[in-house]
Amino acid sequence: MKKVILITGAAKGIGRGIVEELSKNQENTIIINYNKSEKEAIELEKKVGENAEIYKADVTNKSEVEEMIRFIIGKYGKIDVLINNAGISQIKMFNDITQEDWNTMLNTNLTSAFITTKAVTPNMIHNKNGCIINISSIWGIVGGSCEVHYSASKAGLIGMSKALAKELGPSNIRINVIAPGDIDTDMNKDLSKDAIEEIKQSTPLGKLGKPIDIARCVKWLIEDEFTTGQVISPNGGWVI
Ligand code: NAP
Repeated sequence: MKKVILITGAAKGIGRGIVEELSKNQENTIIINYNKSEKEAIELEKKVGENAEIYKADVTNKSEVEEMIRFIIGKYGKIDVLINNAGISQIKMFNDITQEDWNTMLNTNLTSAFITTKAVTPNMIHNKNGCIINISSIWGIVGGSCEVHYSASKAGLIGMSKALAKELGPSNIRINVIAPGDIDTDMNKDLSKDAIEEIKQSTPLGKLGKPIDIARCVKWLIEDEFTTGQVISPNGGWVI
């Protein structure tokens, strides 16, 4: 069936991997949301071709998000799948995290998902059909040292998803979470060679993940019809 899919923060990294995987099905219409990475977004749109469209919106900005959702529904009539992927990270000792750091982290990683989800669910409830996938992190499950605000935001996504899965299940809307381990993207570009080696050594599969590893999981969750409120963690066995 033809699906309209919105992926936030999709011009690069994991989001881009998801776009590339899902666009292999020419029946899908994919909206590539971006904020700062305009050049990458335009290049990706060209690469994917006719079934993709880029849209600039800051996911922390309620009116920009609402405008984006109105645009998509106005043009395509519906949104079948929302993937809340946009996010930021920051490594800081707990006592160095300022109130501003905390607010920025929670706004970008958690409140953004509240805003986008609130904007799409009326259409999904009306259609009695929807799939929402929230990209959390392994740190949202086990907590990451020197990433307290990041871990809190990602744990919040898990709580939000589980509660909403119960509330919206009767409307045939599935909400699931993917909590990746370390994935090779710009988010980890400042990690030293030694730190990456250490991660590989403590990972049973002996490697970092790639965006495609998350994209395959997304594809499966979109196709599945009986999974909701679950947390799936592709992490190479790092946390079992
Ligand atoms: P990335 O390459 O740094 O990409 C982050 C994306 O988030 C960018 O496309 C960026 O868009 C977007 N974004 C950030 N703030 C935004 C805003 N206010 N509005 C719209 N988009 C915004 O990192 P990534 O690894 O692909 O991360 C994707 C998701 O996976 C994040 O939620 C991250 O927490 C999660 N994750 C990553 C890892 C990992 O090891 N890489 C592990 C677990 C979870 P623009 O550049 O256009 O602003």
